[in-house]
Amino acid sequence: MINTDYIELKSELTSQARIVITAHKSPDGDAVGSSLGLYHMLRFAGIRDVRVVLPDSVPQYLDWMPGSNEIITHENNAVEAERFLSEADVIFCLDYSALSRSGALKKTIQASKATIVNIDHHQEPEDFANYAIVDTQASSTAELVYDFLQRLDLGVELPPSAGTCLYTGIVTDTGSFKYSSTRPRTLEIAARLMDSGVKPAEIYDKSFDNNKLSKLKLQGYVLSEKLEIWSDYNTAVINLTKDELDKFDYEKGDTEGLVNYGLSVSGIVLSVFIKQSDEGYFKMSFRSKGKVNVNTIARSYFEGGGHINAAGGRSNLPLEETLRKLKNILPLYEKELHGAF
Ligand code: 5GP
Ligand code: MN
Repeated sequence: MINTDYIELKSELTSQARIVITAHKSPDGDAVGSSLGLYHMLRFAGIRDVRVVLPDSVPQYLDWMPGSNEIITHENNAVEAERFLSEADVIFCLDYSALSRSGALKKTIQASKATIVNIDHHQEPEDFANYAIVDTQASSTAELVYDFLQRLDLGVELPPSAGTCLYTGIVTDTGSFKYSSTRPRTLEIAARLMDSGVKPAEIYDKSFDNNKLSKLKLQGYVLSEKLEIWSDYNTAVINLTKDELDKFDYEKGDTEGLVNYGLSVSGIVLSVFIKQSDEGYFKMSFRSKGKVNVNTIARSYFEGGGHINAAGGRSNLPLEETLRKLKNILPLYEKELHGAF
């Protein structure tokens, strides 16, 4: 049963409590930022035994965040990750709405006797937590963590380390405050974070103007050779195979944001980015404008989900068949694709 009694939850967050904070696999700025933001605040409030445990490692473009080198990943340290999870009194599940999104952590979280707290903003949340602080209208999980900490009132001000991480979560998940998920509260929180000592220009610089040359060259290749427009459906499609990624010394995070280029083409309301994974299957990212609901498309056809205008999924079919499947689905959304607004 879901409980939203903050006083009861606060009573579990004692200075001796063993706390583990988790986020979804292939963590993005919001997953890492909300986790580390909560981590710094709980530590600052005097709780000693707090860890961030993620399924896999933090991409290079986010590894500057304060505390990122203290993160334990299942990918690199499965034994420790599982030990902390199974010994925890409270487990926070941040930025995911289904336990399957915690990847290799799922089994241990499921078996744990800890109190589970889910803080999230994805569509169609599953009921797996003791406490669910879920708002599908929120711009980011970092925004929700900020309000959660205000309401919890741990008796100390947010330290700048926490503020920096939460601001990064909000900035990355809102596309620097440009997506329609940006609401007045988002900007109010950003202002309060600045009041508390956060330096936005430094955060932008470290997050966005800190690229490897090979990542920019991959972007150049995609824009000149790989961006396809399916004009009948106002749709842009990019695909990248493992061989292509290898040519550009691909590292995790290097394709972050590519899907947005498709959506920036005039008249395009759906953009799909298809990338072959190390295991061979195709990971898919969807972005849309207006009424084109990519959460539904990803959930119904590609084992995924997410938000109305940003979602992810996968295809186990070969590339050509994946593209054909996508092409066959689009007519079902013809109305939205031709009148997104
Ligand atoms: P991205 O395309 O940046 O990987 O993800 C876009 C949004 O969809 C994010 O909020 C992410 O959490 C969500 N998402 C990405 N991949 C999946 C997936 O495989 N399953 C589900 N349920 N959500 C996903
Ligand atoms: Mn998020």
